[in-house]
Amino acid sequence: MNGKILEIQNLTVSFDGFNALNNLTFSMNTGELRVIIGPNGAGKTTFLDVITGKVKPTKGRVLFKGRNLRKFSEHQIARFGVGRKFQTPRVYLNLTPRENLELSCNRQKNVFATLLKPTPSGERQTVKSLLETIGLTAKADILSGLLSHGEKQWLEIGMLVAQSPDLLLVDEPVAGLTDEETMLTGELLISLAESHSIIVIEHDMEFVRQIARTVTVLHEGSVLCEGNIEQVQSDPRVIQVYLGSTSEEAAH
Ligand code: ADP
Ligand code: MG
Repeated sequence: MNGKILEIQNLTVSFDGFNALNNLTFSMNTGELRVIIGPNGAGKTTFLDVITGKVKPTKGRVLFKGRNLRKFSEHQIARFGVGRKFQTPRVYLNLTPRENLELSCNRQKNVFATLLKPTPSGERQTVKSLLETIGLTAKADILSGLLSHGEKQWLEIGMLVAQSPDLLLVDEPVAGLTDEETMLTGELLISLAESHSIIVIEHDMEFVRQIARTVTVLHEGSVLCEGNIEQVQSDPRVIQVYLGSTSEEAAH
């Protein structure tokens, strides 16, 4: 191990000859919280797709903990420790938050086996502390369908953490949340960053300012610039890219 959880070297991903990612090089240290921004179509989602193995490199390499991911399936890559949170929460609405978390601790078992068997005490502790982390202790035993959109997002983040990933990929976690929920999501990610490496893709610049240490700006499939939020926001290339698009596009 060289301290790099993720190294991406000269990565190109082509769709019918169009390079969604174009000779992209990126690396991040174990334990880092990295925010990725960029205008619509910059390649942010493709970037996550290629890390999870959903999309394969046309050229170049993705190394996770030093291992080239090329020949592995999405399922195998998840087992190596890459966890992805999608934009839309994927929780069982007819189960409680506690039950959803218990299920995630037991990914290999099926729903019924998990719900019918008594939960071992170690796992009960894990679920209890996850509920505290995501702020859902008081709502642990109501149906998840009754949670707000923000609370469902936190539950799904908790479900992801229950599987002990080394690298958490989070795509637009605050889209559609209230200001207060957005702020609390930032606090949650900052607290998870104490024990995880995390990549967050986000457009909400106020939220980016709340959580960001290092920001990477993607543009036309490549890294345009990287630095702290002040450096990135004052970089003329970044200003150009965002001004060059319509304000509607800049927001996505
Ligand atoms: P972002 O998430 O930054 O908005 P994407 O990674 O979704 O950008 O897309 C980058 C570019 O690649 C866009 O121009 C998009 O239209 C194109 N693209 C993404 N996925 C596909 C695909 N499966 N087939 C063809 N083009 C795609
Ligand atoms: Mg996208």
